[in-house]
Amino acid sequence: MRKKTNRLGAFLKIAVILIFLLGLFVFWRDHQNRQQVETGETTQTQTETSSKQTSSAKKTASSTLPEVSPNDWELVLVNRDHITAEMNPQLTEVGGIQVDSRIAQNVQDFLAAAQAIDAQEHLISGYRSVAYQEELYRSYVEQEKSADPNLSQEEAEKKVQTYSQPAGASEHQTGLAIDMSTVDSLNESDPDVVAKIRALAPKYGFVLRFPEGKTDSTGVGYEDWHFRYVGKASAKYMTKHNLTLEEYLTKLKEAG
Ligand SMILES: [Zn+2]
Repeated sequence: MRKKTNRLGAFLKIAVILIFLLGLFVFWRDHQNRQQVETGETTQTQTETSSKQTSSAKKTASSTLPEVSPNDWELVLVNRDHITAEMNPQLTEVGGIQVDSRIAQNVQDFLAAAQAIDAQEHLISGYRSVAYQEELYRSYVEQEKSADPNLSQEEAEKKVQTYSQPAGASEHQTGLAIDMSTVDSLNESDPDVVAKIRALAPKYGFVLRFPEGKTDSTGVGYEDWHFRYVGKASAKYMTKHNLTLEEYLTKLKEAG
């Protein structure tokens, strides 16, 4: 009887140990599974986040460049490398000058906004025909030559080209460019006023076309009064990224 009890006791002890070990195993297995699930979820979340970041980065990079074509009428490029024949735009008079009829309202609104900053703001020049530009350019060359008789024709023209363009190379012939200032002389307006006007220009679709430090790109010296209509989306992008029309068009063409 005693032996039997002993055997029963030993059996129970083994059973308890086995149950304990089984419990331990079950606990360990559950724990492992939970860890795997957690790790898996984390990995998945990380993947989702990083793929979201990648797609948003792609989206930011592409969508900030406005969906416009370099061939759009607002983005026509006229400069000494892009000599253009008379374009005969349809014209509308605004504030004593003529502009392409499609931008007449923008010019009107931009002028009103500029006058709210400084009442002296006024329009000086808008559309100029290729024929008139030729006349103007010749007269400037003659002025330079009479001011300095030692200048050759070439030297005089080079000097003039820092502030006026030969026939076919001035964007005033597009009807999309305006000269607007508080005074009738180039680069003599209060720089603080110019900075304010420049900042609000994109709201009306304009950019300061010949900014400081961009002569290498535009081929023209700084002009505090020459604004060019390029459309609101392009104007905002160009201003934000400090791009000239030449640089912006290159970027648009690269983006395809
Ligand atoms: Zn101008």
